[in-house]
Amino acid sequence: MIRIDKFLSQMQVATRSESKKLIKMKRITKNGALVTDGGEKCDPKKDCICLDGHPIAYQEYHYLMLHKPAGCVTATEDRQDKTVMDYLPDNLRRGLSPVGRLDKDTEGLLLITDDGALNHSLLAPGRHVPKTYYARIHGIVTESDITAFKNGLDIGEKKMTAPAALKILHIAENEQTSEILVTITEGKFHQVKRMFQSVGKKVSYLKRLSMGSLHLDEKLTPGAWRELTLEEITKLK
Ligand code: URA
Repeated sequence: MIRIDKFLSQMQVATRSESKKLIKMKRITKNGALVTDGGEKCDPKKDCICLDGHPIAYQEYHYLMLHKPAGCVTATEDRQDKTVMDYLPDNLRRGLSPVGRLDKDTEGLLLITDDGALNHSLLAPGRHVPKTYYARIHGIVTESDITAFKNGLDIGEKKMTAPAALKILHIAENEQTSEILVTITEGKFHQVKRMFQSVGKKVSYLKRLSMGSLHLDEKLTPGAWRELTLEEITKLK
């Protein structure tokens, strides 16, 4: 059982103070009866809470896609740096955690959820969820790098890296830079940067484009977020 004002804010209908106003304006009902006190309890799974007569759909978990900008850390709190959570509204942050980690200077797709089971299963080493990154590289990426990524690289871990698919998008010979796409199925610390380091090249820009079936919504500018659609959630599970 939770307070109705809390339910309204968790379902993003209104903030806690806006909820009070909606209740005062007699716009909220519980199972057909007018709600007069935000402190009144409801069982979100059983009770029908309506705004202006329209039922508010209950969603047990939140699933957000953030276009992580560079310059913030993937953590729920940090003493020094801005975190990815700072891009979300206060009423949503509680209980949410990022799924996996992007470096401070990496941009792109970050899933944030309070569905612990999904978080865990997407990161489970046995599941090999593919993650695709776009990167700009100092140096000319070659066919032999593609083979080396496919065969596995020694990045100083106990085991070689699992096969990774490297695709060259563009080479600028005069500037000695390359644009590539790389898909990895592991999530080792600084993995993409360390893989390029092991073939003598440096990543100058890194952006995650997808994780499993989930693709970064290009309509989201860095720092912007949206809820996942039902279809996106179902496909991820
Ligand atoms: N690989 C990296 O090196 N950094 C990231 O942020 C993600 C993958």
